[in-house]
Amino acid sequence: MRFQKPKGTQDLLPGKVEIWQFLEAKAHELCRRFNYREIRTPIFEMTELFLRSVGETTDIVEKEMYTFRDKADRSMTLRPEGTAGAVRAYVENKLFASVDPVKLYYIGPMFRYERPQAGRYRQFHQFGVEAIGSDDPALDAEVIAMGYRFYREVGLNDVRVEINSIGNAASRASYRKRLEDFLAPKLPSLCPDCQKRFLRNPLRVLDCKKDVELLQDVPSILDSLDEPSRRRFDEVRAYLDELAVPYAVNCRLVRGLDYYTHTAFEYKAGGIGAAADAVGGGGRYDGLVAEIGGEDRPAVGFGIGLERVVALLETRNVDVPVDRFPDVYLIAVGEQASRKLVSLLDAARAAGLSADRDYMGRSLKAQLKAADRSGAKIAAVLGEDELDRRQIQLKILATGEQYAVSLDRWIDEIKNRLSRLEHPEEGR
Ligand code: AMP
Repeated sequence: MRFQKPKGTQDLLPGKVEIWQFLEAKAHELCRRFNYREIRTPIFEMTELFLRSVGETTDIVEKEMYTFRDKADRSMTLRPEGTAGAVRAYVENKLFASVDPVKLYYIGPMFRYERPQAGRYRQFHQFGVEAIGSDDPALDAEVIAMGYRFYREVGLNDVRVEINSIGNAASRASYRKRLEDFLAPKLPSLCPDCQKRFLRNPLRVLDCKKDVELLQDVPSILDSLDEPSRRRFDEVRAYLDELAVPYAVNCRLVRGLDYYTHTAFEYKAGGIGAAADAVGGGGRYDGLVAEIGGEDRPAVGFGIGLERVVALLETRNVDVPVDRFPDVYLIAVGEQASRKLVSLLDAARAAGLSADRDYMGRSLKAQLKAADRSGAKIAAVLGEDELDRRQIQLKILATGEQYAVSLDRWIDEIKNRLSRLEHPEEGR
């Protein structure tokens, strides 16, 4: 074959794209109920933004960014996540001047140069929310509960919530010291990546999948939280209890990104592959807005990987409601009827029906077959006779029933029949 899609990307074809439309519609609708408003930011940003916001010691920045020089020799990067761009837009457009908290959401592609495997792509899609301007623990709980509700409402009942607190800067500094003391004697046995992490960002050692044994007795960050951080974490948990969102505390959950403070959480589910059990995650990032040049504003958000949601729906055989169209397939026999068909088709579409016709010069029999194959529920046949009588023949494709109706009311008749086909019990 001459051309193939780039490694780690997907073509979302008709038949599968409907599941994506369903998820996106759910996300929009959920955000409407929670009063979050959509934001669309560029797919590429200045590389510096991600160095600042994602953090230079993270895997994303160290190994995974799609970075290129543009024609003016500026370093640009395809966004690896959504928070940096959203916060950049918030600062640049002075959204902090509106009523706090500013509640934003986005849906779109992200890019990371990772080794493709189950649930891991180089172009993937996230639905994310960011609530900027409040440090109320109830807002952390709202965000966690919102993601939880998203999974439930799309039909996934077994996604689990794990939460942790990494505290404020002071708590983290004191934990870092304890962690270094714990890791130092084990340093020679740690994996090469973790040896580097130990020097640059030891918290990230907790993420390691290879050094699990060595980390068995690692001190918990929760024991290093100072009083305000501990109280805050208790409040978030109390709100989650109030919301009846079940969760487990996972004191190893630290997240890979540097700007997180206090609450960290992940949504988890089994069955997609070892490297993909996190189907979403987020946390509080009180330091980020100031870090990228805005006023100091606290914030909290999540990012949900939609490929993984799709994979979960498939492995769990969840039925997604899909619109089947067209409603009606128009068929003409004869030259006059063919001419007239164009305006009938247009009238059907203007009236809100999904309607189509043959464009291949097929015979009547072949057109009826095409109507069947198209998935249409009704075929409408216009011959010269019908035209003379100002009528059209309707054929209900599921039953074979066929009858003529006047051209004055054929569209209403189709709508009636469609609603009876959809709700057969109401017609009785
Ligand atoms: P992160 O920003 O790394 O916390 O990612 C948030 C969510 O995005 C993860 O929980 C995944 O669901 C999803 N995700 C991250 N990286 C990938 C990837 N390479 N392919 C598919 N989904 C991903």
